[in-house]
This record gives sequence, C-alpha cells and structure tokens, in this order.
Amino acid sequence: MSYKLVKKLADLKPYDPIEGEFEIRLDANESYFSLDEKIKTEVFENLGKIDFNRYPDPYARDAVRAFADFYQVDEKFVTAGNGSDELISIISSCFLNSGDNLVTVSPDFSMYAFYASIYGLNSFVFEKKSDMTFSVDDFIFFCKEKNANMVIFSNPCNPTSCGVKKSDVKKILEELKNCLVVLDEAYMDFWEGQTLLGEVANYDNLIILKTCSKAIGLAGIRMGFAVSGEKITNALKAVKSPYNTDSLSQKIAETIFLHKELLEINTSEIIKNNKILLEKMNKFNEKYHIFDRIFPSKTNFIFIKTKNADVVFSELKKRSIAIRKFNGFLRISTGSGRENIILLEKLEEFVDKLEKEGE
Ligand SMILES: *Cc1c(COP(=O)(O)O)cnc(C)c1O
Repeated sequence: MSYKLVKKLADLKPYDPIEGEFEIRLDANESYFSLDEKIKTEVFENLGKIDFNRYPDPYARDAVRAFADFYQVDEKFVTAGNGSDELISIISSCFLNSGDNLVTVSPDFSMYAFYASIYGLNSFVFEKKSDMTFSVDDFIFFCKEKNANMVIFSNPCNPTSCGVKKSDVKKILEELKNCLVVLDEAYMDFWEGQTLLGEVANYDNLIILKTCSKAIGLAGIRMGFAVSGEKITNALKAVKSPYNTDSLSQKIAETIFLHKELLEINTSEIIKNNKILLEKMNKFNEKYHIFDRIFPSKTNFIFIKTKNADVVFSELKKRSIAIRKFNGFLRISTGSGRENIILLEKLEEFVDKLEKEGE
C-alpha cells in the first residue's frame, strides 16, 4: 500500500513559465520599467524600519491606504492579497460551495478555470467570437441559463487585449444581481475611462481585482487588491489567512503608490510604446502576411492569431526574445522603444530568411 494523491492532483503539473535567460522578455506582461533608483533608495530606507521579529499588519493598512489614494477609492472597500492570484483562489474557494456554478469566458486568464477545477466548481465556458468580442446580452442569457453563482473575467482581457465597455459591464452587474461578478482589472490602467472602481459601493455583487504586477511595475513582490462593497470586503478580510501579505511587500507597495506622478508617466509611456508596437506589427504583416489577424489592444501587449505561432515563437527564442505562445495565437508584451525595435528587426531577419529558403 502507498499513499495516493487525490485524483484532481494526480495529473497536475507545476506552473511552468518559459525557461532560460533572455535578453528581452516580452512573455509575462510585466512593466519594462525597472524601479527608479531614487525610489529604490527610499524603499531600502523604509524596509530598514520594519520590525522583522513581528508579524505583519494583517490588513496591510498603510499599503491599502496608498493604493486607495492612488486609485481614488475609499480604503474601507479594499482588501490586500498575496498577488491577485491569491485573491482569485480565496474567492473561488470561499465565496462558493463546491458544486456551485461558475461561468468563465474563453479565451481568458487560465487561472480562473484552474481554480474552478481544484475547488470542485461546476464550470461553464462562454466562447468569444472570432474577433474576441462577445455580446453581453448573449452572455447574460448564458449565465442565467446556467444558473451562475459567480462569473469571472478579465477586462481588458489577458490574453486577447480586447475590452468590454463600462456600460456593458454595468448591464451584466444589473442583470445578474444574485450572482457574484468578479472583474479582473489587472490591465485597466492601460484603458482610460473604463474602470468600475468608482462603482463598487453601488453593486453588492461586484469584486474588482487589481495587481501591482503590471502597470505598477512590481511583479517581483506579491501584492494584489480586491475592491468591493462593505459586505464582501468584510467577508474577504475574515476568510483570508491572517498574515497573507508580508511586511516587506506591504512597505514596498506603499512606497511606490505614493509616487503617483511617476507611475502615471510610466503608464502613459507604456501605452505609447504599445501603440507604436501595434502599428509596426501591422505594417510588418502587410509586407509579410505571416499573421492571420492582429487584434486591437487596450492593454500593454498585443494578441495575434497565426498558424505560424510555433515557428515565430521558437525563432524569437533562438534570438533571445521570449514571448508567449498559445495554440494558434501569440501574445507579445510591449517592451521599451529599443526592445520593440529589436523585436521587429529579429522578426524581419528570420522572415527574410524563410522567404529566401522558399525561393
Ligand atoms: C498578471 C495578471 C494578474 C496578476 O496576478 P498577480 O498574482 O497579482 O501577479 C491577474 N489577472 C490577470 C488577468 C493577469 O494577467
């Protein structure tokens, strides 16, 4: 006799981001800005004041206050998490009973379906159209038909880089009043005027997720936030593990959020470079036709449909550039202006080579 893993764990593989060293990393939608040197000094000073022998603040109050101030929300609506990944896990496991119905959309962030399967949820998938949009009326109909207890989607979406308009999201919230709507706004910093952060007091079925890993440029620390009305916020604070975020991450997040101006400059730079990258990729494709479709982008990355996903991915990898590959699709995070130029050069290089070989 030997110990047997439960079935849902037996075939599971650890999360496996692309391996190796790359000169240019465009695979994980991180910010290409490293931490400003002056702010880094300030961070180190602040870290020096931590009582390392003491447990962290269970509610990360200083970080939450700085976050709330940055996004202009009331701090009483904010819960800190160990990355928004932890918050997705807590919400999927604690706000539903096993066997409850979860609706996700596809394509979308893979972690939603992953946690649904681990927590024994009844998962229903609503497929997007080929242009990666979906009709909210059809979606609402689908959710009602499946008796959804919870829906979760990213807006704007990872990986499609497309977004659902604010008025449409409101319609979902209003039509699905007894269903929990989890809105992952990880990339909303890059899409102006569409956030629902200002609306959390008006919907008692809404949770918005934010992260420090993208526009804020802190993927190296684990810090995410849930923003929701008081009923949900109280439940989240009560059900999370007491010390889910550590003193260092709290202090670092607090310090960075207080530099509002720099964060805003960085975000607008990223938006600008993403737009240039999208334009250049479209021009590139008009010349070489190796992509079937390049989607419009409301994020810091671009999404491409192509039968050549494998070869583009591996040729870039050989040239020390990491991007993300899905079945028949590619996702490329925007890099700095210089990184994007190198990306385009390397793409041209091997496409030229392929064409010459084909002659
Ligand atoms: C990157 C990302 C997150 C961030 O997760 P963290 O755990 O905070 O790093 C959340 N949702 C989506 C859709 C993402 O792409």
